[in-house]
Amino acid sequence: MPKMIPVTSPLLPPLEEFIPYLEEIWRSKRLTNGGPFHEQLESALAEYLGVEHICLFSNGTLALVTALQALRITGEVITTPYSFVATAHSLLWNNVKPVFVDIDPLTNNLDPRRVEEAITPATTAILPVHCYGIPCDVEAIQKIADTYGLKVIYDAAHAFGVRQNGTSILKQGDLSILSFHATKVFNTFEGGAIVCPDKKIKQRIDYLKNFGFADEVTIMAPGINGKMNEIQAAFGMLQLKHIDSALAQRKRIFERYQRALTGVNGIQLLHVPDHVDWNYAYFPILVDESRFGASRDELYDRYRARDIMVRRYFYPLITEFPMYRSLPSGDASRLPHAHSISSQVLCLPIFPDLSFENQDEVVDILLSASGG
Ligand SMILES: *Cc1c(COP(=O)(O)O)cnc(C)c1O
Repeated sequence: MPKMIPVTSPLLPPLEEFIPYLEEIWRSKRLTNGGPFHEQLESALAEYLGVEHICLFSNGTLALVTALQALRITGEVITTPYSFVATAHSLLWNNVKPVFVDIDPLTNNLDPRRVEEAITPATTAILPVHCYGIPCDVEAIQKIADTYGLKVIYDAAHAFGVRQNGTSILKQGDLSILSFHATKVFNTFEGGAIVCPDKKIKQRIDYLKNFGFADEVTIMAPGINGKMNEIQAAFGMLQLKHIDSALAQRKRIFERYQRALTGVNGIQLLHVPDHVDWNYAYFPILVDESRFGASRDELYDRYRARDIMVRRYFYPLITEFPMYRSLPSGDASRLPHAHSISSQVLCLPIFPDLSFENQDEVVDILLSASGG
């Protein structure tokens, strides 16, 4: 019986390498609240990623919620329906109304041409997602934001380490959010971060993630408990030692898929633009049923029957969930590209220790499904 092949598998360095970190925590008895590993990881990540400041969080969703609170976002925010549901949920947690606009079918990211027409007097910000780690059209988005006086917060949960023209994509906009969830390229079991440009906003965010404490007796706002603990931070330090080889391995797997699947009738691969140092976070394909000879869901069922955990990511769209369905901007007729891609997408397994043998099995199933 062949073993199950997951769609992703966490970067998990050898256990014995983690033991000294744990011993250090036991010695110091500092378990959380900005301990030594927390401090180390904030500066090590800022340096590795090439950004000014990092505020660590216990997960990416609390980082998103806090980023919006830190910038005092109210009213309406323009965002994408083609994302993980936490993107839109972070708006509801801030009593902000999401306004959905369609994506550009080439990048799967918010289409700047659709953003402008969705702006109303209540709009205060844009919340785009660098979907699959492919950069948004950051220049066009910033231009609109500057024209209308809007903030830009990037959900960069997929974009760890991504650079465009040699500069971190995480420096774009007012703030960017990372997720270090187990399924992401870089993980701390659960975890996340806000990337911020200056010390002043970092200070505010650091207060907000610790209940709003500015000092022992001062609460500056109704903050949340979003702190990353020392075990997570220590694991992050260990991950950092392994991240470059993990990214190189992802690249190798990506290129093998590319060689095997380019030109298969009815299968469209992700477009990675020039001048982008990508992180090979996902391997999405689009299945055009009429040309491929089988539907996306037929292919999905074939994989699942062989215990290969491919994922329809993102399906359903955020706008199909009950708390978003009734919003006028969520109407399917306004989001044709998002709907079309959501009905065709399938993410194939990609992770650093995916064996070439298992990868070949994934490829063979796809090729044999072609033509029905
Ligand atoms: C993973 C993810 C999140 C949420 O991050 P968590 O760390 O799981 O809370 C938010 N947005 C996107 C696009 C994600 O993929």
